[in-house]
Amino acid sequence: MKRQIIDTIERYDTIIIHRHVRPDPDAYGSQLGLKTLILDNYPGKKVFAAGDHDFSLDYLGRPDEVAVPLYEGALVIVTDTANTERIDGCHYGKGAELIKIDHHPDDDRYGTIRWVEPDASATSELIYRLFKAGEQSRGWRMSVGAARLLYAGIIGDTGRFLHPSAGPETFLAAAELVSHGFDRPSLHNAMYEMDAPLLRLNGYILQNLKVDNGVGVVKITSETMDEFGVTASDTAKLVGVPGAVKGLVAWVFQVEEEDQIRLRFRSKGPVVNDLARRFGGGGHALAAGASAADWKEAEQAAEALRELCGN
Ligand code: AMP
Repeated sequence: MKRQIIDTIERYDTIIIHRHVRPDPDAYGSQLGLKTLILDNYPGKKVFAAGDHDFSLDYLGRPDEVAVPLYEGALVIVTDTANTERIDGCHYGKGAELIKIDHHPDDDRYGTIRWVEPDASATSELIYRLFKAGEQSRGWRMSVGAARLLYAGIIGDTGRFLHPSAGPETFLAAAELVSHGFDRPSLHNAMYEMDAPLLRLNGYILQNLKVDNGVGVVKITSETMDEFGVTASDTAKLVGVPGAVKGLVAWVFQVEEEDQIRLRFRSKGPVVNDLARRFGGGGHALAAGASAADWKEAEQAAEALRELCGN
């Protein structure tokens, strides 16, 4: 498969690389890492990165403006994107051939060539493996810039090597990438800065969690979100945080949105979706959601959760 991808890359003069919307470091790392790697080894090719720029990822680089006529007769490669709905940029189907390289489950089997390895820690790790195949068969070289991008993608998707997906192969890849000698402290700082608002809010949530006999209530007002520089949808990433608090059996996040208070119920036992339904929502037994018109109704939902849990 890797050889087939390398052969295909060699056949095209113009290559356009896409990745998913709402990009993360692995989306940029795999997309821009592959672009850099191709240019490192085939400087005569025209290689473009498509998609909208996310300014929080400035430290990794920027995508290109890709004019539609460039797609004609081009090779299109999509990295790190499980399904076509999530591809950033709507012209990905206009090339002569389409390759999918990804590490999510292969639910949407798009592309003429698909290389999907759900066990890989990051798509950037797959691009590193592609490099190894190219190194062996074609004598590919890797620049410091490509190594930095692929390393950033790997640490992004493994939670700094903490997730179980980081296996021996991941560490071997990282060891080699690091040996290229890019400025790791500044990369780590940039990545920390990107995550810092959520990390700070995480601390705030734990400090301000109101716990009443096993039920936790987390109130996040729009002032709080402004103060921490996060959006209402960012807070969804932290809804599991109270689960680490000893003795907590269920909790509700009350997040102020423009015209409602979003309620997110989580539980370790008591069934919460019936309760969510009472507030016009629904969901699963242990993870459900609803909306309240105002803080008074949000407090009623919290009280109902306390009653449900027997307080
Ligand atoms: P969330 O808190 O948004 O992650 O949602 C947890 C679960 O509850 C998901 O399965 C959602 O689909 C479901 N859910 C959240 N909000 C609502 C709602 N207003 N109506 C029905 N289901 C919801």
